[in-house]
Amino acid sequence: MQLGSPPLHLQNKFVIQSDHMAAVNDGSDQPAKHNGSDQPAKHQEVGHKSLLQSDALYQYILETSVYPREPAPMKELREVTAKHPWNLMTTSADEGQFLNLLLKLINAKNTMEIGVYTGYSLLSTALALPEDGKILALDINRENYEIGLPIIQKAGVAHKIDFREGPALPVLDKMLEDEKFHGSFDFIFVDADKDNYLNYHKRLIDLVKIGGVIGYDNTLWNGSLVAPPDAPLRKYVRYYRDFVLELNKALAADPRVEICQLPVGDGITLCRRVC
Ligand code: SAM
Ligand code: CA
Repeated sequence: MQLGSPPLHLQNKFVIQSDHMAAVNDGSDQPAKHNGSDQPAKHQEVGHKSLLQSDALYQYILETSVYPREPAPMKELREVTAKHPWNLMTTSADEGQFLNLLLKLINAKNTMEIGVYTGYSLLSTALALPEDGKILALDINRENYEIGLPIIQKAGVAHKIDFREGPALPVLDKMLEDEKFHGSFDFIFVDADKDNYLNYHKRLIDLVKIGGVIGYDNTLWNGSLVAPPDAPLRKYVRYYRDFVLELNKALAADPRVEICQLPVGDGITLCRRVC
């Protein structure tokens, strides 16, 4: 994280604040009201992790299609993580399901994850990969990873994970020095410091194989991207928003990738390397 930026564990705090107008805040820690109106925002429940306009519809998706199919270890990890003070950073169950299916659809084998936290997206990846699949997992914080590790071990997929503690950029730079890593990853999930996403992209584009996929998470930044310029956004929301806006523009203009920005979770942009 760069000096002066807000603490990372607060990044996704914003996400649970609910619908698009939750980006607009009066500076308190209370859920935001709609932009200037005294009507409450539509989503106020702590734990909401979707940009859908209706809580009921999101709940319907979770209860109908996600929770009944959620593997037991992922459920256990989700419940353990829910007790952690920074739980708002975790990947939502519907996004975990999406990642798991995507990895199977593209037959991913060699993958990377930047931003692990307690490991929910990591576990959804590990469960999707074949027995000899690999995940290079990078995070500055090992302690949180160790919360999820016993569950990952019990699920029998820990052997697929190579966890490295420390900032991701130097690891990427080191890999770029060695030709054998160029074009070697089938899938890379980026869910860490938003102010470095473009720095990651510059490097990951050479590390992912042609036809492989990079997924950038939180690219809708809970709707704050379309808040009026003078909206009283929370400090860290405003800070990261500019980086997310810049990233979205750069990805849309990058001829080396085909992209699709999906409103799953807090928005995920899939980039398929084409050249
Ligand atoms: N994917 C995770 C999940 O499913 O629970 C959530 C990741 S959380 C939103 C962001 C993570 O990025 C934090 O665990 C934080 O420690 C990590 N992080 C922040 N800056 C980083 C950096 N420069 N390099 C690697 N990891 C970083
Ligand atoms: Ca995320």
